Amino acid sequence: MNQYSINSINKVKRISKKADYSKKTIHQIIDEALFCHIGIIHNDKPIVIPTIHARMDDQLIFHGANASRLIRTSDQSNICVTITLLDGLVMARSHFHHSMNYRSVVLFGKAEIISDELERMDAFKAITEHVAPGRWNDARKPNEVELKQTAVLKMPIDNASAKISAKFPTDEDDDYALDYWAGIIPVNQSYGEPENDPDLKDGIELPEYLKNYTRD
Ligand SMILES: Cc1cc2nc3c(=O)[nH]c(=O)nc-3n(C[C@H](O)[C@H](O)[C@H](O)COP(=O)(O)OP(=O)(O)OC[C@H]3O[C@@H](n4cnc5c(N)ncnc54)[C@H](O)[C@@H]3O)c2cc1C
Repeated sequence: MNQYSINSINKVKRISKKADYSKKTIHQIIDEALFCHIGIIHNDKPIVIPTIHARMDDQLIFHGANASRLIRTSDQSNICVTITLLDGLVMARSHFHHSMNYRSVVLFGKAEIISDELERMDAFKAITEHVAPGRWNDARKPNEVELKQTAVLKMPIDNASAKISAKFPTDEDDDYALDYWAGIIPVNQSYGEPENDPDLKDGIELPEYLKNYTRD
């Protein structure tokens, strides 16, 4: 199946023509974004926490200190994950029709701590490689103490939706005659020139895989 099934939870209601349930689109958005927001219920109250994620096939991976509320509350619990890539500011002729262009994803599922040691290492690797492909083999691996302090969780990606807005403003017919500028201000995430750590050992060059960093 190339598409996630649509149900009462993941069905986009308003402006449903912007909805996309294809695995390809949803995976692309997850992979391009550097971080997500995870919604949990803690003591009967909703809390949303930003964190780094990665995707391993049809699993969303995230990690954190064992002691963190996000980790403790997520294990064996239903969570909601959102990811947003902002692509533009849409300036309309009326305030009402101002909006944003975006690609966003909402995921629902039950998270669980990964206990298998090999799977855990794969998950840590996936998170590192998600941020910078090539980095896993180019830094010290986690030691016993670090591994003990950190939990890594997985959530199946099977209840998902994407919503994509990519358009010029849609104004009221009469408003097109108004003397206000309308259009789009594109938003592009850019990455600067890498800067050496002041404590960097002499003779260490910037690795090739970190040159011209981009995520498109
Ligand atoms: C950057 C940004 C700015 C936005 N600004 C506004 C705003 O100012 N006002 C406003 O009303 N809406 C805004 N939206 C759209 C908003 O995310 C919802 O789509 C909107 O509230 C309509 O939801 P609904 O009532 O149709 O569906 P809901 O009942 O809220 O959601 C039903 C299901 O649809 C899916 N869904 C809903 N929204 C999204 C989404 N964005 N991405 C992926 N899946 C989704 C989920 O699976 C959800 O469970 C914005 C979105 C983004 C990304």
